[in-house]
Amino acid sequence: MTASASTGGVPGIREMLARLISLPSISSASPEWDHSNEGVVRLLAEWLEPPLGGFTVEIMEVPGMPGKFNLIATLGSGPGGLVLSGHTDTVPFDDKRWQSDPFSLTEKDNRWYGLGTCDMKGFFPLAIEAARAFAGEPLQQPLIILATADEESSMNGARALAEAGKPKARYAVIGEPTNLKPVRMHKGIMMERLRFDGQSGHSSNPALGRNALEGMHEALGELLALRSEWQEKYRNPNFEVQVPTLNLGCIHGGDNPNRICAQCELHFDLRPLPGMNMETLRQAILDRMQPLAERRELKLTFAPPCLTAYRRLKPPRPTPLWSKPVRNSRATRHTPLLLPRRHPGCSSWGGWRPW
Ligand SMILES: [Zn+2]
Repeated sequence: MTASASTGGVPGIREMLARLISLPSISSASPEWDHSNEGVVRLLAEWLEPPLGGFTVEIMEVPGMPGKFNLIATLGSGPGGLVLSGHTDTVPFDDKRWQSDPFSLTEKDNRWYGLGTCDMKGFFPLAIEAARAFAGEPLQQPLIILATADEESSMNGARALAEAGKPKARYAVIGEPTNLKPVRMHKGIMMERLRFDGQSGHSSNPALGRNALEGMHEALGELLALRSEWQEKYRNPNFEVQVPTLNLGCIHGGDNPNRICAQCELHFDLRPLPGMNMETLRQAILDRMQPLAERRELKLTFAPPCLTAYRRLKPPRPTPLWSKPVRNSRATRHTPLLLPRRHPGCSSWGGWRPW
């Protein structure tokens, strides 16, 4: 593996990556895992802004999320432009399954190992290396390097940028690892929590309580029935998994065999195809749950598991085949792909997309 040497004070690719990897920036809905990404953002700023780089750098704290930052680095000015976008955070890690220090860039078998080497701190050294060739050059349109916070968890970094209307550009390339094959469309995702609260009591007389677990049993049947209906109705042959999916992820409830279960909670995710309306899907679920809860006299809660961390997302709009990035990808023999979403991240940020 080769990496360019340091020039003009900015480190070479390998050193940049090693330093980025050495700074933990895990984002997670679990507070015990969650880190600030400030170190990564400040380091990127150091390389991009004068005197090392020629970019104008703006660092934005994500509203309501102390310690979380987005970075917008701009070369040139004017309308149009190209964004090279990546996220600064990583997923958590299981240290017992790592064969090397996840925060130390390690070379083995002609590969570099470290938490985020691929997804996706590795994109930044490459983007900086590519962009630095244009520093000081007169550009017809701006070139923007964008670094976002919390893509692996809340996506509040990207959401804050969207709400602020920044940055503005005509095209964006998001450097998610796709084996250099452009992805122009992916599924959406909804993370949902369904909870029933009933009344506990001694198991010897079921009339003494209202069993939340039995309510959940019925609800599970309804959800699976809905899933079947949606999979009958919706299909997109461009995806490897051609139908919308609904996964029953985890369930908790009750405390003892001889007590009536007073509370039961289910978390599930739903991955709709582009074109499916999220609110319609939620309403369809509610329409099945509400009569069930009323009949069983259970209190119903239906909401995302964590309002700040997993707000519901809209399915992405696909980039049309006729758009310039997709056409260009064909010119370079990269067939645009359609992929299922891998995790809560990567909503606009898993593919080519006109801004
Ligand atoms: Zn990623």
